[in-house]
Amino acid sequence: MSKVRVRFAPSPTGPLHIGGVRTALYNYLFAKKNGGKMILRIEDTDQKRYVDGAEQYILDSLEWCGIHLDESIIHGGKYGPYRQSQRKEIYRPYAEQLVNNGFAYYAFDTAEELTLMRERMKKAGVTSPQYNSVTRSTMKNSLSLSDDEVKKRLNNEEPYVIRIKMPRNQEVKLFDVIRGWVVVNTNKMDDKVIFKSDGMPTYHLANVVDDYLMKISHVIRGEEWLPSAPLHVLLYEYLGWKSQQPQFAHLPLLLKPDGNGKLSKRDGDRLGFPVFPLNWKNPETGEISLGYKEGGYLPEAFINMLAFLGWNPGTPQEIFSIDDLCETFTLDRVGKSGAKFDFDKTKWFNQQYLRSKSKLELAEMLQVILKKNDISAEINYVANVCQQLKERATFIKDMWSEGKYYFQPPKSYDDKVIRKKWDNDIKDILNELKIELAELVDFSAENIETVFKLFLEKKKIKMGVLLPVLRVSLTGLAMGPSLFNIAELIGKKETLFRIDTAIQKIRK
Ligand code: GLU
Repeated sequence: MSKVRVRFAPSPTGPLHIGGVRTALYNYLFAKKNGGKMILRIEDTDQKRYVDGAEQYILDSLEWCGIHLDESIIHGGKYGPYRQSQRKEIYRPYAEQLVNNGFAYYAFDTAEELTLMRERMKKAGVTSPQYNSVTRSTMKNSLSLSDDEVKKRLNNEEPYVIRIKMPRNQEVKLFDVIRGWVVVNTNKMDDKVIFKSDGMPTYHLANVVDDYLMKISHVIRGEEWLPSAPLHVLLYEYLGWKSQQPQFAHLPLLLKPDGNGKLSKRDGDRLGFPVFPLNWKNPETGEISLGYKEGGYLPEAFINMLAFLGWNPGTPQEIFSIDDLCETFTLDRVGKSGAKFDFDKTKWFNQQYLRSKSKLELAEMLQVILKKNDISAEINYVANVCQQLKERATFIKDMWSEGKYYFQPPKSYDDKVIRKKWDNDIKDILNELKIELAELVDFSAENIETVFKLFLEKKKIKMGVLLPVLRVSLTGLAMGPSLFNIAELIGKKETLFRIDTAIQKIRK
């Protein structure tokens, strides 16, 4: 294989959707697997759709995901500039070359003339009228007008676009690494604009010219671009670059979790999950859309989940670090059919990665949340808390919301436990237990448990009667990790204090 060079080529028209991140990820994995280069090219030829902040958002998202770039608008590289608006001057000569060689033509039609043509065709029974080999002769272009007329219009600087001259009834064949051979008849294709009246190329021309000039070996992109690929194949041929045409791989769509169709922001809002990697603030409305990062996901989990939306390793293994993915990923294990997004699976991945972290790593993450809540605690103490909570948490933030009692006495007590288990007798019993616990010198979980069990035996009380009462006194909750471990961690003084407080505060 010649040198692998792949590109991720987003348009900065808004926040990067997770489908876009997956495209970037597959490009990156393919590059790494094959010792190639990963390029980021910003496709901003459509100035009307440019959205402030979108470019930075793309860069920040890739960085958070651990997708490293070799060449880009910030990393530079010898094929720059990497932003199409800065390459403006590059494209016109290629468009003109196509006109001069008879593969494209100037078209002077106004918006009204285009509308009239469509109306005319609709009346004649054509359901989706196009500017094509049939209609072009009725329009104002350099094929239908005389040479003199064309020259005059060009000299007068009349606005024009350049359109590709789509041949009639020709088969365009392209090989897609994922889909195999794709054959399209040119009668189904229109005379697409390749160069606009504002002096900018359209996506099609800019994309092909840049892929060629940047020596891109493989075009790996979403399935929505498959219909454009035959046009791109023709452009490679007409520009004389057929032997350098990159290989194509069109990735399957990301589908809604329920039903069919492409996963959209609306699905996320409707079903309560993010569709963006990071928070995005709409610069016009100020509306904030939640991102995976801010939603508490670990980048490793997010990436692992995305990798599996359309690809599988062919083995039961599900947990892959990004390095594992770089080693294992191949395009021939990418499926053709759409991949259904599964939010529960996404949470599962996060839980798996959370569990795989050391207690100190978790403690550092939890400290950030504790600080925000004005809690100061020793890192080793926090680490021990994390150790006790990690099997129960999906997100690091759960350790705070479900484990506040490790850092402060309960502010309220579980209603149901109180209703079912609390009475004056139990208060006295709890007080007696407290006295026994107070005598314990080594306040370890094991010793606490022994004292507790001996106490139950002596008093002939069932575990299910006293344990929930002790738990609610110490934590305020009905459930949680081993109560004896909790007591050991918060310590003897705090345990006794909380029992006392509960006895005084809880009324029924
Ligand atoms: N600019 C296109 C996009 O926004 C790139 C498509 C391609 O990769 O060719 O997705």
